[in-house]
Amino acid sequence: MTNVDPHELQKFSELAHRWWDPNAEFKPLHELNPVRLDWIDAHAHLMSKRVLDIGCGGGILSESMATRGATVKGIDLSSSALGVADLHSLESGVEVAYEEISAEALAAREPGSYDVVTCMEMLEHVPNPAGTVAACASLVKPGGWVFFSTLNRNPKAYLFAVIGAEYIARMLPRGTHDYARFIKPSELANFARAASLLPVEIKGITYRPISKHFGLSNDTSINYMMACRREA
Ligand code: SAH
Repeated sequence: MTNVDPHELQKFSELAHRWWDPNAEFKPLHELNPVRLDWIDAHAHLMSKRVLDIGCGGGILSESMATRGATVKGIDLSSSALGVADLHSLESGVEVAYEEISAEALAAREPGSYDVVTCMEMLEHVPNPAGTVAACASLVKPGGWVFFSTLNRNPKAYLFAVIGAEYIARMLPRGTHDYARFIKPSELANFARAASLLPVEIKGITYRPISKHFGLSNDTSINYMMACRREA
């Protein structure tokens, strides 16, 4: 059984042509990107590192990590998103190697190969997130870094991430997120530990509606990121 939901992939494929429009459906990812990039770089020192971006989509994070001096590979299972990622990389001149392959299949082919693995805003779209976390753990070198981000599961997250973002602010298309797939930080930490990844830091991502900016905070009740290290 493959760890992928075709319906989820289709949602992203249909929107792929809009990926790099900073004012379209992926606007939140564009606005969030500098914040998460700095946080990843501060922990993992991206310069000259071998980085794998899982569920890379159109490559917003992948390209930005390459501009920090990392050698980046991006994988996804949406061929349209990868097509857009490839084209954008050609246009921008920022080199990223993209491939349509699952995390699990790449883990079987290239175990222990990456200094840094990122898996952002993707776990809440897969049927078996623990399996994806385990694949991330297999792909990273001993002592290497793995970064996740996802949505917490509680009434407040439902209100803000689904009702607020999709229905009221119309920041995201309706149906972008399925509440049942949201993941509590304690659950993600358990998936990580079960795969020999040690959670090092958890940060909340808070949207400030007045300034319209995302910032890091200690409030993990909606969007959050987790930095983990693979046991040496
Ligand atoms: N990580 C990127 C994109 C997030 S959107 C960023 O944060 O900027 C979620 C992405 O996950 C989409 O590109 C979608 O195609 C991809 N995705 C969903 N299920 C997947 C799976 N099982 N394997 C690989 N990619 C998947």
